[in-house]
Amino acid sequence: KGEGRNRVALCDAAAREEARDALALTLDLREALKVGSLRVAYQPVVSLSDPAALPAVEALVRWDHPERGPVSPEQFVKIAEANGLIEELGLFVLDQACSQQVAWNAELGEAAPRKVNVNLSAIQLSSRGVVDDVARVLARTGLPAAQLCLEVTETALVHDREASRDRLLRLRAMGVSVALDDFGTGYSSLAYLRQLPVDYLKVDRSFVEELHRGHPEVASAVIGLAHSLGLSAVAEGVEHPEQTEALRALGADLVQGWLYARAMAPADLVAWRRDVRPLRPGRRGAGAP
Ligand code: C2E
Ligand code: MG
Ligand code: MG
Ligand code: MG
Repeated sequence: KGEGRNRVALCDAAAREEARDALALTLDLREALKVGSLRVAYQPVVSLSDPAALPAVEALVRWDHPERGPVSPEQFVKIAEANGLIEELGLFVLDQACSQQVAWNAELGEAAPRKVNVNLSAIQLSSRGVVDDVARVLARTGLPAAQLCLEVTETALVHDREASRDRLLRLRAMGVSVALDDFGTGYSSLAYLRQLPVDYLKVDRSFVEELHRGHPEVASAVIGLAHSLGLSAVAEGVEHPEQTEALRALGADLVQGWLYARAMAPADLVAWRRDVRPLRPGRRGAGAP
């Protein structure tokens, strides 16, 4: 009996410790947002049919905590969502990403990424002001809407379907494209998917992992579904050359993963573009040798 009680006490203590920890992180995150110490890293998305192209980069938020070191976005995005900080965090990333894409356009010209992908939290998508927020950032930074892609998850679309669909329609009317992230891990109905204004389906990393273990069934189904709906299929989390070959055979359009590149600081992306994946000479336009 005593042992049981002890265990409860231990659980209690652990739960309290965890809550304290979450509270501390929340305060630190609020501070980080205030002083601007979050960063954005960019992971290349490459084309299977044109190895010299750079169709997109995905903006991924980074937080180097002064004492804890790097905190995973999986963890602090959740904290931001739970504590009313996600809109500010999301706007910060959107603004950084759009400004950065404008800078790359100027610095790299034709070699610049064609689009920048920004993750939108379900809470952001559920906010009435999201369309205006995006329009304002595009206007402020001067980024053409066609160079912005917003990544949303199926789960974000389950609540208040009509309103989210309407917001996506308005964003697309502006010229912004939309990707359905982590596809296959959420709860969307296939009937609803057909009516969704999206341009890309992102095959979740877990299904790309299964490819490596000899199970192409789900990846194959998602790619087929994307194509039958007229969407492009993007595979996430490609780590092995055999996965690339399997994805090519299944007809995937775009791939993203550590096999190609990790998320990088903007300057590193420029170096990567110049040295690792240079444009083919023929693509430099008329007059070039
Ligand atoms: P996501 O949007 O699905 O992003 C892909 C995640 O997979 C990133 O993790 C990326 O670094 C990781 N990844 C890419 N290639 C590979 C690979 O080959 N192998 C493995 N194991 N992982 C790979 P990250 O940066 O830790 O972000 C995790 C999640 O946090 C993101 O998943 C997204 O849901 C969320 N997130 C990140 N940045 C933001 C943001 O600015 N706003 C919002 N709302 N969410 C964000
Ligand atoms: Mg994403
Ligand atoms: Mg994803
Ligand atoms: Mg994810």
